[in-house]
Amino acid sequence: MHQESPIIRRQSKQIMVGNVPVGGNAPIAVQSMTNTLTTDVAATVAQIKALEAVGADIVRVSVPTMDAAEAFKLIKQQVDVPLVADIHFDYRIALKVAEYGVDCLRINPGNIGNESRIRSVVDCAKDMNIPIRIGVNGGSLEREIQEKYGEPTPAALVESAMRHVDILQRLNFDQFKVSVKASDVFLAVESYRQLAKQIEQPLHLGITEAGGFRSGAVKSSVGLGMLLAEGIGDTLRISLAADPVEEVRVGFDILKSLRIRSRGINFIACPTCSRQEFDVISTVNALEERLEDIITPMDVSIIGCVVNGPGEAEVSQIGVTGGSNKSGYYLDGKRQKERFDNNDMIDQLEAKIRAKAAMMAPE
Ligand code: SF4
Repeated sequence: MHQESPIIRRQSKQIMVGNVPVGGNAPIAVQSMTNTLTTDVAATVAQIKALEAVGADIVRVSVPTMDAAEAFKLIKQQVDVPLVADIHFDYRIALKVAEYGVDCLRINPGNIGNESRIRSVVDCAKDMNIPIRIGVNGGSLEREIQEKYGEPTPAALVESAMRHVDILQRLNFDQFKVSVKASDVFLAVESYRQLAKQIEQPLHLGITEAGGFRSGAVKSSVGLGMLLAEGIGDTLRISLAADPVEEVRVGFDILKSLRIRSRGINFIACPTCSRQEFDVISTVNALEERLEDIITPMDVSIIGCVVNGPGEAEVSQIGVTGGSNKSGYYLDGKRQKERFDNNDMIDQLEAKIRAKAAMMAPE
């Protein structure tokens, strides 16, 4: 029921990662990365499926060895979501996973080695329609660039990215996206801003090594929020030292809060105070957990009293506003005769939300 996002997106070229469009007018794709041993096929497949279940559009898997490449083949056969292989330096691994159906290669062409190796990877990507992600990281800049700039700066990150971009452009390859990640919010944000002016390709956003669950989510929200609000960013990954499933949830929450992309329920809840007529916090926590399977975008406001309850309920699909013993219930912004018993709030709300979701189209 809330309005469209006022954000005007940067116009980027669209590339395809498997069947997922990235860039152009495509929805901003949410990614995560497995943290299992890739050679443990069963564990990696299980994690990819868990990521898919919470809405991951694309999943990255690191492929550090030829054994991991062989495992990748088996993994790829068992999952539907497009897979990106994360490869550093070894061009033979890139060729191998291409043979096994990889949907995107995360490899920096400038790090592959001599010209013939670069050409073999780029030619293979071209022939097989596989896009590439150039991934620059403030913590691993080339030595010459580090020496030139003394420390990671936005200009240093962009220069590093453009080296790789120039190689691909020289080889007439334009199916790529780029990231310039840093753990410092200002460094990352300014690097992306500068890069956005220089290339047309989609940008993959991330604040790298952002931290643990809470601090990393906050840092990522601040950094990515600044960029997304300026229209920069076509896909994102939240890096958390936590379960990767949380990365996907946080990614969607960021997009949801900027009204860029909705998936599932947007809960509007008051922080509670002594005026609350039912236990708002436990109601919201229980419903967030119970309703995770719902992908239909919907605003649900759960407010403890009449101070702010009606105002929020009027702009939500489902709203509840706390009253003594029984609370007011709103559907599509309209107050209903039916009221909820405060002692049975969670079950009643769950039933109403499920019924409403069943009538609405999913994302
Ligand atoms: Fe307190 Fe009511 Fe405000 Fe919730 S809406 S914080 S219960 S005054």
